[in-house]
Amino acid sequence: MFCKIIRGEIPSSPVLEDEEFMAIRDIYPLAAQHALVMPREHLGSLNDVPAWSDGQGQRLLAFTVRVAGELGIKDSGYRVITNVGSDGGQVVDHLHLHVLGGERLGELV
Ligand SMILES: [Zn+2]
Repeated sequence: MFCKIIRGEIPSSPVLEDEEFMAIRDIYPLAAQHALVMPREHLGSLNDVPAWSDGQGQRLLAFTVRVAGELGIKDSGYRVITNVGSDGGQVVDHLHLHVLGGERLGELV
């Protein structure tokens, strides 16, 4: 599904995008601000990130900070979550980071 969004087969209005990554709003927001950050390249989950080339993981995190800036929550604070596998509650088989904020979030960890 995310591959289709990235290829433009499913229309979306990105919060932010560059040649490597794309961020869209979650269609079922769990916070006042809730975006999904994903690599354009198909990666199953965070488990596949070690196979990335040097610097790509760092660029993913730097892009995620830029997304928080676009959402206007960089200074007020936010949370970044990625679900991995069945116990982690992963429902879409394409690596994505949830960026949540815009309100005081409940304590998780
Ligand atoms: Zn994919």
